[in-house]
Order: sequence, then C-alpha cells, then structure tokens
Amino acid sequence: MGRSLLMIPGPIEFEPDVLLAMARKTDSHVAPDFIDCFGRVLRNLREIFRAPNGQPFVVAGSGTLAMEMAAANLIEAGDRVLLLNTGYFGDRYATMLDRYGAEVTQLRAAVGSAPSLDEVEAALDAGAYKAMVVTHVDTSTGVRTDAEALARLARERGILTIFDGVCATAGERFEQAAWGADIYLTASQKAIGVPPGLALLVASERALDAWRRRREPPRSLYLDWAEWLPVMEAYEAGRPSYFGTPPVNLIYALDVSLRHLLDEGMEAVWARHRRLAEAARAAWAALGLRSVAEPGHEANTLSALYYPDGVDSTMLKAVAEAGVILAGGLHPDIKTRYFRVGHMGALRANDVLATIGAVEQGLIAAGAAISAGDGLAAAQRQLATSKR
Ligand code: PMP
Repeated sequence: MGRSLLMIPGPIEFEPDVLLAMARKTDSHVAPDFIDCFGRVLRNLREIFRAPNGQPFVVAGSGTLAMEMAAANLIEAGDRVLLLNTGYFGDRYATMLDRYGAEVTQLRAAVGSAPSLDEVEAALDAGAYKAMVVTHVDTSTGVRTDAEALARLARERGILTIFDGVCATAGERFEQAAWGADIYLTASQKAIGVPPGLALLVASERALDAWRRRREPPRSLYLDWAEWLPVMEAYEAGRPSYFGTPPVNLIYALDVSLRHLLDEGMEAVWARHRRLAEAARAAWAALGLRSVAEPGHEANTLSALYYPDGVDSTMLKAVAEAGVILAGGLHPDIKTRYFRVGHMGALRANDVLATIGAVEQGLIAAGAAISAGDGLAAAQRQLATSKR
C-alpha cells in the first residue's frame, strides 16, 4: 500500500545507496574489488566500535548468531557467568549460555529497570566469574544499561565482558577500548543501517587470549574463531581467503553504510540519536504515554510505551493506516500492554515528527483523550532548544 515509514526497532529504513549495493552484480568473494571492500569494512568497524586493537568478525547470520559466536568461543562447560538481565534478550542469552554448560547467575531487574552498580559490584566480588554478560539496550523494554561503568567494574576484577549491542551499536555511545569491554556484538539491521543478515562482533585482545587458552575447541565449527580469524586477517591484508562464502552484497552494503557513519562522525551520530530521542520523549510525555523504561534508563534507539487506559494494539493498525509501522510488545510480562517505536539509523527530525503525528492519529482513532498536535508541538519545542 504505497510508501510507509518503518519505525520498528529493526529492521529500519535504509539509505537508498545502501539498498542499491544490495542490487549490484554479485562479485566473486575473492575478486579484488570485494577483497578491498571487505578489508575496508573491517578497518571501519574498528573505528566505529572505538576498538583500535580489536579483532572484528563479520559473518552471515543474525544478531543471535553474534551472541552465539561470543558464547561458543569464550564459554566452556562449568564456566561461571554473571548475566545482567534487563529483558527478553537477557533471557535469550541465559538459555544460550546454559546450552554451553555455563553456570549462570542472573541479576534480574524489574521490568523497565536495570541492576544497580552497587548490586553488580557486590555480585562480581562474591562470584569468581569468568565473564559478565550485559545487554546494552534491551529491545523488549527500551532499557539502556550503563555500559561504561559496568565494563570498568568487570575490568578492574579481570572479568571478561560481553555486551549485546544489537539494539544499540551506532545509536548509543560505546567506546570499546577506552571502557575495557571485551566483546561488543551487533547485527546489521538496526543502527548499523544494512538489511538483516550480518552478525558483527569485535573482540578485544584479552578475549582472543581467553579463547586461545580454551581446554577444547568450540563444538560449533561455523562459529569457531579458529576458522574465521585467518579469513578476517587475510581480507584485511588484501589477500583472498575462504571458510564459508561471505554474503558479498550485504558486505558491499555494509561498506556504504559504515562510510556514511564515519562521514558523519560517531560523536555526531550519537548526538543525533540523543537529540531525536529527546524530541520523541517530549512528545510521549505531552501525550500522556508512559515509558516502560524508567527515567534514567531510557535508550536513545527506541521507545517502549504503555498504551493509555482503554487503548490496545488495534491502535497500531490506525498508526499504520497513517503511514507508519510500529512494533507491538515483546517482553512476556507486559506483552499486550505496550508498543515500541524504533528511532535509530539514518534518521532525521522529519521521520520522528511523522511518527509522532501518526501516533497521535492512532491514539485518536482508538478513542484516547488527547489533543492532536500536542505531541508534535512538544517535540518541535524540544528540537528547537537542543543543539544540532
Ligand atoms: N539482542 C538484542 C538486544 C536484539 O534487539 C535482538 C534483535 N531484536 C537480538 C539480540 C537478536 O538479533 P536477531 O533478531 O538479529 O537474531
């Protein structure tokens, strides 16, 4: 039904030149042009993750595969892992780590909140953990954790950290080397700005050392860094290599998207996400929409919002009729009570304003007592006062 704006927390709207790269003729995975491109992608990922000495891995797969690559290479049966659970994707990591035989201790926060730094510090001191696993932004709650402080707490104690950045990377500040984070992992389809299909991960030197000291190789051949590390090193050195056929067109598209990010500059990219998220939050407050994430925990990449009294998910149909696609709830405890708005990637103020306008129309169609324009006016005021 014509054009509509995809404002879910991934996949998102992609830039036309990124999509064009998906449509170009597929080169051989050992063609010189592709080797150049793959090498550049790996170097650019280091810059975007702020990990000058990190080792990037780019493989075909979704974000869950990136989560699994970290687990498969770093965790062995009996390893103790502290998991900070802030929602649905924390639950997923718990299930996954359990499959790898880890002894997982969970710090579970109430829906919309995150474990406090004091709680985490006490748990880390009590535990003799090999690793701590954290979701940077949980897509089911819109909660962002304090990745910088958490990484430091673990690093001071020599504990490895794995950050799931699938709903955060390139939308929220993350400085992997400066903060001492060992794994930052993500997928292509969110703020990285490329259609679904790529699992991306950057490992610190410490993480690679821990992998080298394993007692046994990972059970999964596809995920084993022993297979992928020589491939990544070869492409970066301008040489062909092969383990599993790389998704050539997706990597061409990633090259385009990463160059957009670096042309804008990561500081500017993060600031733009914050500015647009603040405008969205001003609108939600003016419309009486309560955030699932508590104050101070709200991510800049998405909003998770409770429906007002008397409104349910049928509202999203009216929003879609107004031209904007939003997402329903995901967290099992509150699934039917809230909806989610993604605001990440190559987004401009107009995209956010169009979304707020469509939410207003949906609320009115659902019978909510709001005044059309209140959310838009609040967002416009916020945009006018915040620096570009
Ligand atoms: N972690 C987080 C925080 C996510 O948001 C998602 C996807 N929504 C995943 C992991 C899993 O990624 P994928 O769906 O690409 O497997």
